[in-house]
Amino acid sequence: MWTVVEYTLHRFPFHYVTEKEPLRLLTGGLHLLHHEIPNRGDYVVSPILLSTPFYLLISGMGYLITGNIFTISIFMAGLALAYLIYEWIHYFTHHRAAKTSIGKYLKKHHMLHHFKDSNNYFGVTSPLWDWMFGTLPNKSENRETQILPIISREHS
Ligand SMILES: [Zn+2]
Ligand SMILES: [Zn+2]
Repeated sequence: MWTVVEYTLHRFPFHYVTEKEPLRLLTGGLHLLHHEIPNRGDYVVSPILLSTPFYLLISGMGYLITGNIFTISIFMAGLALAYLIYEWIHYFTHHRAAKTSIGKYLKKHHMLHHFKDSNNYFGVTSPLWDWMFGTLPNKSENRETQILPIISREHS
């Protein structure tokens, strides 16, 4: 479940560019800073005040669907744990040398997102949803690529 949440948040709100506050902060604001300075540690992980609105939104939607506070509480605890694992893997892809084949694959996948094509490779913990939704480019495809940061390009 986490992998699709991660993919959806990364692909849509975090790559949505706007100058309007506070929407800018809740969408691509911090993420675009992360694209601009990828190895700065405090831009790799999301501050708790920024992740809380998404957590509350997903909790509310889950409660509306299930109508059961216990079910959604257990679900959200699992989602929070998955989020911490995601943050660790994301940090790892930027700051550690991968030794296993899975680690090397995830690091390469995320570095392609940062340094080759920011319109693709949105999955950090898994390439599954990139593959499902067509954002895992075929190596033989002839396509246009874009490298963020978009903001720096527009205002420089
Ligand atoms: Zn991104
Ligand atoms: Zn990153």
